[in-house]
Amino acid sequence: MSPPLPIAETFHSIQGEGKLTGVPSYFVRVAGCNLRCSWCDTPYSSWNPEGETRTIDDLVAEAGSSRHAVITGGEPMLFAATRDLAAALHGAGVHVTIETAGTTFDPSRAPHGDLMSISPKLANSTPRAGDPRDPGGAWRDRHEARRLSIPTLQALLLAYPERQMKFVVASPNDLPEIDSILSQLPDLAAADVMLMPEGVSPPTAESQRWIVEACVRRGWRYCRRLHIDLFGNRRGT
Ligand code: SF4
Repeated sequence: MSPPLPIAETFHSIQGEGKLTGVPSYFVRVAGCNLRCSWCDTPYSSWNPEGETRTIDDLVAEAGSSRHAVITGGEPMLFAATRDLAAALHGAGVHVTIETAGTTFDPSRAPHGDLMSISPKLANSTPRAGDPRDPGGAWRDRHEARRLSIPTLQALLLAYPERQMKFVVASPNDLPEIDSILSQLPDLAAADVMLMPEGVSPPTAESQRWIVEACVRRGWRYCRRLHIDLFGNRRGT
């Protein structure tokens, strides 16, 4: 029997980000993350993990008639049971997207993924000195040491032919870091790279202009967050 998974929340909604934007999906958000992004929009799965443990059977039953599922977090790749959940959903005929920051991955235990959605964390994600959630800065140091692993990203790209790589960007200062990362991932097509504006409210036209211009110049995709537009920064959406 599969071990249970710590679950922060589950819900049915539409996918708000990436190639499958707008597709009705069943979302499973695991509780627990090895990072602590300063701007994390789901702190109940990272800074202060909440929820309960759920069995794989229970989760698959809850997916119901959904044809798409998104296993997100938190960091799903931390948990061995993610593999069981992905296999069970796949066995039930469900298209499985896994969302990961791409910091940990064992190719010999790769979960089934019809779409691997990888979101490497840039320097803009590191908790700032004086963050009241991180007195002493232990998480700042841990986050900085863990947030980017090129070998792990390379292994994920090798294992998953269907993928997208989403970067949360805060300013044009982020572009050199993205260029540097991508220069080490030559197998990733530009069309699979996405820039997503940081923030938990709909961005203004002015604030998005530099992102759109960067995408046009480099052949990347601009990634709007439809769920923020439609529902705001609310749980269960
Ligand atoms: S990797 Fe995702 S869940 Fe973890 S702290 Fe960063 S934004 Fe939050």
